[in-house]
Amino acid sequence: MKSSQVPFKEDPEQIEFAKNILISLRDPVVVINEEGMILAATRKMYEVFETPPVTLEGMSLLSLLKDKKECSRIPELLETLRTSEEAIKDFPVLLSSASLKRHRFSINANRLPLYNQKVCFLVCFTEVHILPDENIDYRKLLHEVLSEAPALICTLRGKDHIFELANHKYQDLLEFREIIGKSVKEVLPEVENQGFIKMLDGVYNTGKAFIGKEISLDLKGENGGKTVLLDFVYQPIKDAAGNVEGIFVHAIDVTEKVLNRQSLENSEKELRNVIDTVPVIIWITNPMGEGSYLNKEWFQYTGQTRKESLGAGWLEALHPEDRDGLYKKFLEAHREQKEYQAKFRLRNKNGSYRWVVDRGRPKWTSEGEFEGLIGTVTDVHDDYLKEQVIKENEHRIRSIVEQATVATAVYTGREMTIELANDAMIDLWGKTREVVGKSLREALPELEGQPFHDLLDKVFTTGETYWGKEDRVDLMRNGSLETGYYNFTYKPLRNEEGEIIGILNMGLNVTEMVESKTLLKERERHFKLMADLMPGKVINTDASGKPIFFNQNWYDFVGLDFEQLKEYSWENFIHPSEENEVRKKWNHSLKTGKTFEMQLRLRDKDGNYLWHLSRNEAVKGENGEITMWIGISTEIQRLKEEEKRKEDFLKMVSHELKTPVTSIKGYVQLLLNLLEKYKLEIPGNVPLKPSLERIDNQIVRLTRLIAEILDLSRLEENKLELKEEVFDLNEMVEQTIQDIKLTNTQHQMEIFHSHRARVFADKDRIGQVLINFITNAIKYSPDSQYIQIHVIKVGSDKVAVSVRDKGIGIDAKFHKNIFKRFYRIGVESKETYSGFGIGLYLANEIIERHNGYIEVKSKIGEGSDFSFVLLENKHENE
Ligand code: ADP
Repeated sequence: MKSSQVPFKEDPEQIEFAKNILISLRDPVVVINEEGMILAATRKMYEVFETPPVTLEGMSLLSLLKDKKECSRIPELLETLRTSEEAIKDFPVLLSSASLKRHRFSINANRLPLYNQKVCFLVCFTEVHILPDENIDYRKLLHEVLSEAPALICTLRGKDHIFELANHKYQDLLEFREIIGKSVKEVLPEVENQGFIKMLDGVYNTGKAFIGKEISLDLKGENGGKTVLLDFVYQPIKDAAGNVEGIFVHAIDVTEKVLNRQSLENSEKELRNVIDTVPVIIWITNPMGEGSYLNKEWFQYTGQTRKESLGAGWLEALHPEDRDGLYKKFLEAHREQKEYQAKFRLRNKNGSYRWVVDRGRPKWTSEGEFEGLIGTVTDVHDDYLKEQVIKENEHRIRSIVEQATVATAVYTGREMTIELANDAMIDLWGKTREVVGKSLREALPELEGQPFHDLLDKVFTTGETYWGKEDRVDLMRNGSLETGYYNFTYKPLRNEEGEIIGILNMGLNVTEMVESKTLLKERERHFKLMADLMPGKVINTDASGKPIFFNQNWYDFVGLDFEQLKEYSWENFIHPSEENEVRKKWNHSLKTGKTFEMQLRLRDKDGNYLWHLSRNEAVKGENGEITMWIGISTEIQRLKEEEKRKEDFLKMVSHELKTPVTSIKGYVQLLLNLLEKYKLEIPGNVPLKPSLERIDNQIVRLTRLIAEILDLSRLEENKLELKEEVFDLNEMVEQTIQDIKLTNTQHQMEIFHSHRARVFADKDRIGQVLINFITNAIKYSPDSQYIQIHVIKVGSDKVAVSVRDKGIGIDAKFHKNIFKRFYRIGVESKETYSGFGIGLYLANEIIERHNGYIEVKSKIGEGSDFSFVLLENKHENE
């Protein structure tokens, strides 16, 4: 043993005693005094604690062990030894040797009473040997495990919570402060008022573990400190006896997790707020299609409560008709985990249904698992209705176009794509439906070189409608280029913004009209040409009689041009004697549409009046309305003069003839009377009597002829006088027929008095008319001898005498003319029907002067019916 550097002042006796005790011991054993000073130590002590070769005597055991990083429990042990009388058994300690090798010792100690009232203590370190299979350095292992552990781990020893152990992570948290062997309070003064010490005390005192969740720990540090959130367990460490000797601290830094979660929570909250504030309905479902979330907007929109919307309750807000279909689709989207879109009517809180669009998309977890759908519901009611209206309008326009009888087509875009074309248009083009969808250039290549592409482009760029009037269009129809004329429009079509998007084309084929117009013009030209070539004077007036055309002859005759003649009025050229009659007749014609016909004198440019026959005939339209008048005046000056000469001659002849004929008639009568009286026989069978009678008959005819010619001239000179009286018409007819029968025995004449009447008239003149009718009936019936004479009632106050024969008849076209002076129908042999053509003229004049009229009913080959109608005289005294 070597003496220590510090003189050991212990009682040598004691030391000796101690040494003696230890002498035979092999274990590490020391004897210490009450102050803990080593009095003696076995060799083993030196080996175990690897102290330098200095004596241990006089050293404090505590400092020895402390130097060797002894565990903190030694002072506790010494204290127990000092204060208690009892020995200490198997007090477990873990000590480090000088080479820091850990030794598990079980300490046994007991009190050694000394003679001088003093005590010393024997402290025996028995090394607890680890079983061969347990021959692992648990401490190291633990240390390593703990160091590797992701958790913050430390052990605290004793009531002051002295750090016994701390893993790397824990030390890292504390920025590698010196902690082992120090108390919590020492190491972490800042946590004192954060409650941790209290918690540790609690565990230590109660022996119950404490679990802290997300507890924040504020640490001071060189760079200003930090706050960490910890999940931790304070687990009491108990000795074999169950006493708490320390606390095992296991903590996990959840700062990041909590912050993440918080920020997630915050962002989720924020999202929800956003979702709730957006004016769109948002919904989220689970994989089964059950509603898991509906934002505020849903409830605001539908007026549903959260409870009502739960599960499939939201379906209640749908229009009943849309509900089932939609739900099926909705579930199908969930089943197939696919996108979904639907349009349906959703009831809003006012109870009215509005169209909405619902769109959903599948939601996946980060692991790719289907979580359900998330979707939005947007109100598209107004747009939808607008769309419907547009669709409907479009449909309507389409059907209007399709059904229109007018050829209609719609072109879109500047390239003029045929968007629409009805059958009438397709037909007009001479194409098939295949042209729809093509450009106009493509569909109707024949338009190339014609002005239409340029016109369309102009309409498209300027927006001005083009009106085509009788425009010529050449179209390829039935394999050949056909020329047609069309009235059509190119009208720009605009969108809502007013931009031109296309052109509406409507067309009407007016080819026929154009052609007939051209024809009409051509005809008009021909008419004028013809009219100019005609020898007469042609005038064309409108329906009211206003002149629109005169032919050249008129201009030549009056020496005026159209304007002058129009201004001057053709009536100014009429002889004053005829003027009134012309005006009267012309007005009558204008009013009734009846043909105007008159002989009149017109003044030529030299002031000479020349006779003309003027005829104005109305030209009538399809419905019988007068459209114009065409008048022709033919000069008959020479004819007139000829007639005059004829008349004069006849007058002169009849005057001259009258006297000799009368005397011949007188002598014939005398001779006949003599024959009768003396019954004279003429020798040689000479038929004297029949000859005389024939002479007498011929003289009657001759006398009538002369009378007629004289009447004619009387008429001309307006000297025909009527000797009117009331007489019995039936009687007069009877007598006249009797007279005729005297000279005509061949013809059978029958009278039918179906009415009896008296008339106020010139009896001889009426008889003259009847004789004329009957002589004509006889004359123009060479093959029939039967003549009927009827007296019949006409209307309420007129009477007619009609003479009917079965003779040659008269063509209707001559019915009017036969009453004209000297008019005779040309027959094959004039010899057969001799005459002058004045009989009916006179008859007509006579009847008209009696305010009556003559009627003719006759057909060629079937006979004639001539009748005169007179007013009946019902008052005897008149
Ligand atoms: P006229 O007998 O002397 O020729 P009228 O004035 O009596 O002259 O008759 C005019 C014409 O009318 C005749 O030339 C004749 O062609 C036609 N006519 C008159 N009466 C008859 C009749 N009963 N049947 C056929 N033709 C008739």
